[in-house]
This record gives sequence, structure tokens and C-alpha cells, in this order.
Amino acid sequence: MSDESSSPQRAAARNPWLFDTHELGRRPGSSLPLRRDLTVETALGVPDVVEVTVGSTITVDLLAESVVEGILMSGTATAHTEGQCSRCLDPVADDLEVSVTELFAYPESTTDETTEEDEVSRIVDDWIDLEPMVRDAVVLALPLAPLCSEDCAGLCSGCGVKWADLEPGHGHETIDPRWAALVQRLEDTPGGDTASGSDR
Ligand SMILES: [Zn+2]
Ligand SMILES: [Zn+2]
Repeated sequence: MSDESSSPQRAAARNPWLFDTHELGRRPGSSLPLRRDLTVETALGVPDVVEVTVGSTITVDLLAESVVEGILMSGTATAHTEGQCSRCLDPVADDLEVSVTELFAYPESTTDETTEEDEVSRIVDDWIDLEPMVRDAVVLALPLAPLCSEDCAGLCSGCGVKWADLEPGHGHETIDPRWAALVQRLEDTPGGDTASGSDR
């Protein structure tokens, strides 16, 4: 069995996050559209704030272009997000489209030899791994404070009920303690408010 050489290739062929650069050929100027539905295997984002959940799909619509130094991938990634409104805590679901552009350098190209691996992505064994590019772009585009609607009024600080569910004019009677003391004193003064009137 020559599994050592064939199985990584077969596994890669089944992994939709990987792009086989043989499909494009190493001829600068040639290009290939690449549209794929990618299944998310590790959730992105922050639980209970906003997330791209495990098992959801990220759709990429890319153009792979062969350039002298490597392959330029550009296009969009669309992800479905789920989270919680930062004001009223209602569930919020949304679709997010982000732009991606990244050069994947050929081994032994000038770019490969003059840059660090964390600066420019590489083509490894003729494969391009789309995952880091797509994940980074989606994570950066996730909202920090998702809202169910731009004008969500949030929750009443007095009772914690959504303003949208409360009667118009809803409020909680609160009286400043200093005023409360004054009111008390006026009430304790016999005929307090008629005395001033009789002085005139
Ligand atoms: Zn809300
Ligand atoms: Zn209230």
C-alpha cells in the first residue's frame, strides 16, 4: 500500500477548504472562478454575543488568478451570524458579506524568499488553504455590539422589560431623597401653605 503518498492527497481533495492549484496551472494571466460552500468546523466569534456557528455554511465566491509570484485569491465570503442584541438581548440573526484578497506565494518565488511566513501566505504542496483567509476576514467583520434594529431602545433600567413591550409613558416613580425630606417637612407644618398667604 502506498498510502503515505496518496491518502493526504485524497483527504485534501475531499476538504472543500483546500484549493488544488493544478486546476489553474502556473501561467500568469490565467484565472479560474471558484465558488464553494464551506462548512464551519470551529465556531467563529464570541458565544452569546455574535457567532458563526459550527455546521453553518460560509459561501465563497472567488477568482483565482495566476500571477508571477503565486496565486491571487479575491472575492467575497458570506457567512450567517447568530447572536444577541446588545441592548434588548433578543436573538439576532444576520448574513455578513466580506471582501477577501490574498496572495498565496509559490515556493521558491521571490516573495517566498523575501518575506516571513506570517506576512504572506504560501502555496503548500500545490494546495491553497482558504480557511485562515476566510476566518480572519469574517472574524474582523463581526459586529462588536449586534443590534436587533438600529433604533432598538433596549430595556427599561427600572424593571428590565423591553421598552418595545411597555406601554407608552411607562416609568417608575422615583423621588430624590432630598425632595422627599422637604415634602415631609411641608406636610408636618400645620397650615404650612396657608400661613404665608395670610401674611399679605
Ligand atoms: Zn434590541
Ligand atoms: Zn420599567
